[in-house]
Amino acid sequence: MTRIFNFSAGPSTLPEAVLQQARDEMLDWRGSGMSVMEMSHRGKQFMSIAAELEADLRALMSIPENYRVLFLQGGASAQFSFIPQNLLGDKTKACYVKTGAWSEKAIKDAQSYCDAIVSASSEDSNFTTIPNVADWKIDLEAAYLHCTSNETIHGVEFNTTPDAKGLPLVCDMSSNILSRPIDVNEFGLIYAGSQKNMGAAGVTVVIVRDDLLGKCSKLVPPVFNYAEQTKNQSMLNTPTTYSWYLMGLVLKWLQAQGGVAAMEQRNIAKSAKLYQAIDASTLYRNPVEIVSRSRMNVPFILANEALDKEFLTAAEAAGLNELKGHRSVGGMRASIYNAMPESGVDTLVSFMQEFERTH
Ligand SMILES: *Cc1c(COP(=O)(O)O)cnc(C)c1O
Repeated sequence: MTRIFNFSAGPSTLPEAVLQQARDEMLDWRGSGMSVMEMSHRGKQFMSIAAELEADLRALMSIPENYRVLFLQGGASAQFSFIPQNLLGDKTKACYVKTGAWSEKAIKDAQSYCDAIVSASSEDSNFTTIPNVADWKIDLEAAYLHCTSNETIHGVEFNTTPDAKGLPLVCDMSSNILSRPIDVNEFGLIYAGSQKNMGAAGVTVVIVRDDLLGKCSKLVPPVFNYAEQTKNQSMLNTPTTYSWYLMGLVLKWLQAQGGVAAMEQRNIAKSAKLYQAIDASTLYRNPVEIVSRSRMNVPFILANEALDKEFLTAAEAAGLNELKGHRSVGGMRASIYNAMPESGVDTLVSFMQEFERTH
């Protein structure tokens, strides 16, 4: 068996130890005589998996008591529509910060439900910057302010939590959750899909402050009504049990690595190595302003586009896969989430240097 270094943006690489444990427990989960996939979600075994999952996420992120943690379906994309429907109440406006392709989608979907005001945009810079927070036009009549902490496609990341001027701050953390410590108290709602930094596809984490619940539109299906799901421990219908279990294994792995603070140190080291290699070269270039460069998704373009194909083919031959950039921006992208070991980045850097030397 050979495992590649998988730089996919999502679904993405998982810690090898997690995959091995899932394999070892596949047929008989801890003496139960069955696989997690085969368990009733109401049975005591799965209930214990679910309880530990929530407890571990709460511990890792220091989630305060007055926040509910939901594990839903539909991906972060479904939340683009269900956040306005859950949070607007009798308000008609919400503020959005446009920093790349994902916030653009969030805005587009929200427009069906409210006046989605673009408080700030970095479109003029081709999404290579984070707009200066002091210049954001925040409408205090809005129900919330939405931002995307890491733009997975453009490789732009907030390096601090913005001031929402008293509005509940709603944040799509799909591609950088658990990669750096944050203070949950600064947010009204945090959401993230599982398939980038937390496990296999299939779970969407929603962390929501209590006082924002209870305003949901009656048109929303109960499974996407946060208050209803809160009352039912996210089990209003059958949850994606195996994905919950895998997320639980990833969280245990994270704890064993030293938690989120230790992960941040590694992510700083990994991304710095890659950006340094890019900046030191004449063949590769990253267009993002230095202070807003993502630690998770590192896009880079080759000076000569004609070499793209050869680069990708040679990279694959060297066991470095999924480096093709998103079709909307072209070039390359290396996604280096928590589970990408430093050796993967080292191997990539060596490969890039050798490719440059020979081209
Ligand atoms: C991947 C991603 C999404 C969409 O996730 P789905 O699970 O496909 O709905 C949304 N926002 C960000 C920032 C992402 O990286």
